[in-house]
Amino acid sequence: MCICINCVYVDACVTYHAVETQHGQPHLTNEPDFEALNPRINVNIRTAAAEIQMEWDVVGCESFQEERGKWARLRPGEAVPT
Ligand code: SF4
Repeated sequence: MCICINCVYVDACVTYHAVETQHGQPHLTNEPDFEALNPRINVNIRTAAAEIQMEWDVVGCESFQEERGKWARLRPGEAVPT
């Protein structure tokens, strides 16, 4: 699971914006202006039928600052990305 969903910077972060793009998700912001320090991204590649799917998860980041449920508060009622 991507640690960003519980990070205070999730709605400003350039790295999380790129993760949203990779997942085809709507962006929390269109103008991210926070550069994360040394984010580590885990990329899972799956093949489903004739399709190749890539899943990007931030698994570590020196800028991470915990704010539990931050993403969920920004998008009430929506399924939290896994
Ligand atoms: S954990 Fe790092 S990459 Fe993820 S939102 Fe926070 S600052 Fe950005």
